[in-house]
Amino acid sequence: KNVQELEKLETVPVKTRICGSRIMVFVRLRPMGKKEKEMGSRCCVRIVNRRDVFLTEFANENDYLRLKRLRGRHFTFDSSFPDTATQQEVYSTTTADLVEAVLQGRNGSVFCYGATGAGKTYTMLGTVENPGVMVLAIKDLFTKIRQRSCDGNHVVHLSYLEVYNETVRDLLSPGRPLVLREDKQGIIAAGLTQYRAYSTDEVMALLQQGNHNRTTEPTRVNETSSRSHAILQVVVEYRVRDEAMNVVNRVGKLSLIDLAGSERALATDQRTLRSLEGASINRSLLALSSCINALVEGKKHIPYRNSKLTQLLKDSLGGSCNTVMIANISPSNLSFGETQNTLHWADRAKEIRTKACEEMSEEIQQPPESETDRAKLLLELQKE
Ligand code: ADP
Ligand code: MG
Repeated sequence: KNVQELEKLETVPVKTRICGSRIMVFVRLRPMGKKEKEMGSRCCVRIVNRRDVFLTEFANENDYLRLKRLRGRHFTFDSSFPDTATQQEVYSTTTADLVEAVLQGRNGSVFCYGATGAGKTYTMLGTVENPGVMVLAIKDLFTKIRQRSCDGNHVVHLSYLEVYNETVRDLLSPGRPLVLREDKQGIIAAGLTQYRAYSTDEVMALLQQGNHNRTTEPTRVNETSSRSHAILQVVVEYRVRDEAMNVVNRVGKLSLIDLAGSERALATDQRTLRSLEGASINRSLLALSSCINALVEGKKHIPYRNSKLTQLLKDSLGGSCNTVMIANISPSNLSFGETQNTLHWADRAKEIRTKACEEMSEEIQQPPESETDRAKLLLELQKE
């Protein structure tokens, strides 16, 4: 009997995937591009078992077994998507659980990280034929709302903003830069459009228009690349009755973030405007990496204030938020350095601890079984 009890104590409290104690980190490999093929590039990434990523400068189809022995070039993530993965698959694995959590009044965020041209915008926004995470999340949200409430008490608001050159702009209503203010609820972009959404159909058009408003500058790496960070915030508000039958308002927020290219500005262009841009992009992404480092090391002070991006992401990194990172990579050996850099950061992000787990598992855990109970049982077992 004691053995059974001990086994019970040793089972981890019920945890859903989203309440893992750390950021969920995924990698998505995109197909080889036409230009890359024309330049005679070879594939240097191999994804095995939907989890393991092998990176090499001299990959051919059959030598991944050998590559397993190359230290430092093998990475494991929560899931890794090969270039054949569909948008729906990526959405279901990375974000669907967060949508469910948002409907329970929790915050969640998904951000795409990677070099320019690696597939961040494709993953987040996608195309009309193959809509990405942003659109699929909203579609799923409306489906779930329809399924669970006949009284229509859920209200969905969207806002879409960009951080470009340390300036925050409203993508749904372009105009003057927005000022960030801190209040009790967190960081607020004053005057940001809160678009009330009623159905999925309007959303793709809205987002595409928004994306069109993004500040884009041609760079040598990719002519259509965006040098700005785009953040879609989906806020779901609804009324429920609590245990005392009082009506309470619940709010859940989902942030979907398409980061600017993570490559160094110097690698693309040297001209004045660009290097100014580069400095700011670096500042935001540097600030992001400092925050990741501070979170990994469990520091008390997290330097969110160092950039607009990290200020906006304050409630989306660590804290009680469910956070998902999708690292986008190209298969081409021409992007080897950037891919290695991206995988390095993604690997590091796995170490971030969040509070979401504590908070959520408190609710579902049975009465806390203390360490002393466990020790007592162990002692008894030893006696036997
Ligand atoms: P980023 O936003 O990271 O700069 P993009 O999302 O714009 O990169 O992707 C660069 C190019 O590759 C685009 O033409 C895009 O359509 C294409 N692409 C990216 N990911 C995929 C994918 N998974 N499947 C097909 N095409 C993709
Ligand atoms: Mg992009």
